Amino acid sequence: MKKENAVIIFSGGQDSTTCLFWAKEKFNEIIAISFDYGQKHSLELACAKDICEKQGVEHHILDMSLLNQMAPNSLTRADMKVDSIAPVVGTPNTFVDGRNLLFITFGAIFAKQRDIHHIITGVSQSDYSGYPDCRDIFIKSLNVTLELSMDYKFVIHTPLMWIDKAETWEMAYNLGVLDIIRDETLTCYNGIKGQGCGDCPACKLRSNGYDLFNEGLSK
Ligand code: ZN
Repeated sequence: MKKENAVIIFSGGQDSTTCLFWAKEKFNEIIAISFDYGQKHSLELACAKDICEKQGVEHHILDMSLLNQMAPNSLTRADMKVDSIAPVVGTPNTFVDGRNLLFITFGAIFAKQRDIHHIITGVSQSDYSGYPDCRDIFIKSLNVTLELSMDYKFVIHTPLMWIDKAETWEMAYNLGVLDIIRDETLTCYNGIKGQGCGDCPACKLRSNGYDLFNEGLSK
């Protein structure tokens, strides 16, 4: 069967970069889309650009600055400190209202212009940190809405939906790209590449997963 093309929502972090390599085995051409929404650490976009250049993947950075104006959050606002633990009620202040809704929607609009039906996102319900827009039900609902809105077939792929961080590391290992994911991606909320600051919730999730994955390997 002839392989089709796909658009990936790409942040240059562990999850979406693992998905990029997953996609390279499944699809013909991959086009990566990143969004500039005023992230404190613009290094995130630089990482995304570097990874795509090295992998020969077409990459576009779309302006989403309106998101920062409308939805205050600690990833874009210098005067807000990142929540180190999730609140009992509501979403953590690292959650950006509407982010995945907008990113995937813009990805779909882009895809249709290029006659592409497949969209890939690295969201995961297993490690969803209380983010409602990482849940499977949201993705399925959006898939239907996108098809109805453009009268066009879309398939949103979520290879990480039901796996946790340790299993995401395992996927990278099985794809033969563990080193690239460990050293060249940026997940840290404080904008430090690779191992990160080690202290923010994203770093903790990432390093706990890595340790669990390594324990599994040594058994
Ligand atoms: Zn960090």
